Amino acid sequence: MKIAVSACLLGYDVKYNGGNNRNEKLIALLEGQEVIPVCPEVWGGLGVPRDPAERQNGKVISCRGRDVTEEYMSGTALCMKKIRQEHAGMAVLKARSPACGKDVIYDGTFSHTLRDGDGTLAEAVRQEGIPLFSENEYEMIRRCISGAGGQSDDKI
Ligand code: SF4
Repeated sequence: MKIAVSACLLGYDVKYNGGNNRNEKLIALLEGQEVIPVCPEVWGGLGVPRDPAERQNGKVISCRGRDVTEEYMSGTALCMKKIRQEHAGMAVLKARSPACGKDVIYDGTFSHTLRDGDGTLAEAVRQEGIPLFSENEYEMIRRCISGAGGQSDDKI
């Protein structure tokens, strides 16, 4: 199966601070699958390192007040183009990110407060009807890969 995965989870140094969120358990689970790394923030033209940003009232704003909505939306569009071209059968995206977060993201106050909602790419993947998981939904990812299906609300 082709699986779109947040590049930072695979160990690419694309995170805002220049690091990554490499997840060995997820990487082991994805062994043998065709993985498509995606990073909407970098693909949208934001550099590494960069200021962290959060979704606020329909926009994405950096911690210093810069409106980076355009970069997020263009990066999201490029990721979706790749996901469609590759016919990805599912996506595993980094939890809580303003671009990749699924179900829950930071609330726009830069106070580590979470609210219900998706990041820009998670929202687009969901609208496309592609099965979507965060890296924390390990068992559901395993079941989806093995063809058992299921709901994507099974946290570990
Ligand atoms: S946009 Fe997504 S892939 Fe890129 S660093 Fe942020 S969470 Fe990771």
